[in-house]
Amino acid sequence: PVKESLASIRNIRHLNAFSFVASEELLEEQLRHAAINSSAESPLRGLPIAVKDNFCVQGMPATCGSKMLSRFDPPYNATVVEKLVNAGAVIMGKTNMDEFGMGNGTVDSINGPTKNIWGLEKFRCSTTSFDDWHVPGGSSGGSAVAVAAGLCFGAIGSDTGGSTRNPASYCGVVGLKPTYGTVSRHGLIPLVNSMDVPGILAGNVDNCAVLYDIMKGWDSKDSTTVKFDMKSTTPSQSGSIKGVRIGIPKDFQCEGMATDVIECWKKTADILEREGAQIQKVSLPHTKYSIVCYSVLNPCEVASNMARYDGLRYGHRATKPRHNSTEALYAQTRHEGFNVVVRGRILAGNYFLLKSNYDKYFLQALKVRRLIQQDFENVWKQGIDLLLTPCTLTTAPKYTDFVKWDNRKQSSVQDYCTQSANMAGVPALSLPIKLSQDGLPLSLQLIGPRFSEKNIFELAKYLE
Ligand code: GLN
Repeated sequence: PVKESLASIRNIRHLNAFSFVASEELLEEQLRHAAINSSAESPLRGLPIAVKDNFCVQGMPATCGSKMLSRFDPPYNATVVEKLVNAGAVIMGKTNMDEFGMGNGTVDSINGPTKNIWGLEKFRCSTTSFDDWHVPGGSSGGSAVAVAAGLCFGAIGSDTGGSTRNPASYCGVVGLKPTYGTVSRHGLIPLVNSMDVPGILAGNVDNCAVLYDIMKGWDSKDSTTVKFDMKSTTPSQSGSIKGVRIGIPKDFQCEGMATDVIECWKKTADILEREGAQIQKVSLPHTKYSIVCYSVLNPCEVASNMARYDGLRYGHRATKPRHNSTEALYAQTRHEGFNVVVRGRILAGNYFLLKSNYDKYFLQALKVRRLIQQDFENVWKQGIDLLLTPCTLTTAPKYTDFVKWDNRKQSSVQDYCTQSANMAGVPALSLPIKLSQDGLPLSLQLIGPRFSEKNIFELAKYLE
């Protein structure tokens, strides 16, 4: 599989899904390691995996799609990578992403945009030039394309506001944002520490569960991981949904949602009801505030996280600062190293965190976050097992249309249905349901209480 995967990666080079591909020597070394160290029963033994470029993998660069880290070669493996490698997986390379995970289209990367594999024939493109294409979603767009192209068993993404589920939805693959704290963030370069979770992209629900079971678990290197004895989450084959209580939250329907998305949502609920599930309308009234709340909390944590990039310790360093001072070196390095989106968020975050603004914005946003969390608690208390919602508002937009919006507008529209699960730390999965009339994948989202991954996989498998 590794040889075939490498050949396929070369075949889809024009889609720009990978920012780094392992050399044949490195792949062989990993195969030898897998043969010696992993158990013969491991379902991952010798299978190719792709990893988003914001995770540390020894022997490969980790650029986060940014000039700031273009010369950063991490000396260690992220915990999730270590676990996959110990289970015999072979890391094929690093996948393209929006700079530091800030985006929804994989259009803002120093490596250039990634192209969705769906709908390409429409644009009559040769392998080298394109008239246009559909965005793969983001920020884990490279990982989603790698899975959609069928060249790996699964791929690792990250999810802070929807960055795993959004590209999974646009590329027609399964995308899981696990319960916060069940998968270690050690070695994942942070965006918003209180919301980041390593995500999983896979071709089907079973493969997603296999990866989750290997990746999950307490880690002494991440103090936010929980000690929770979660058994295997592999879905059973029985597939009965009798009596499962599924909530349909009307608050997830919003302006700009395409009619085929709404139709697909309603039809799927009808089918589930006909086949024995209990469908119930529910309300999560604070959902509509999650984007505004996120647009305060995200920059605050970004401002603090990005302070480490000073040009002294690692990554890019300006060679010609305007003045001969340490401050000028910092300023020039950061000006050259970060794109305009990242710089904008650092600025906004520092503004929200000013002594005079802290109560007004940051503390206020934390209170709204609590209300969003309580909305979820309330529906579980009513006996709802899982929520069924749209994932993205439309199918994958065309690149030329997408980039007409600035990054802030992109996020506010695209993350509407996905963001609140990050606020609450609950697990959520994007599942392809069918193709739209224009031949693009249409997906829905399942959300459950903390630690309910197994139930989510069961229902997802039923719908698959
Ligand atoms: N659109 C969000 C952002 O730009 C997505 C973040 C994510 O999940 N990494 O911040």
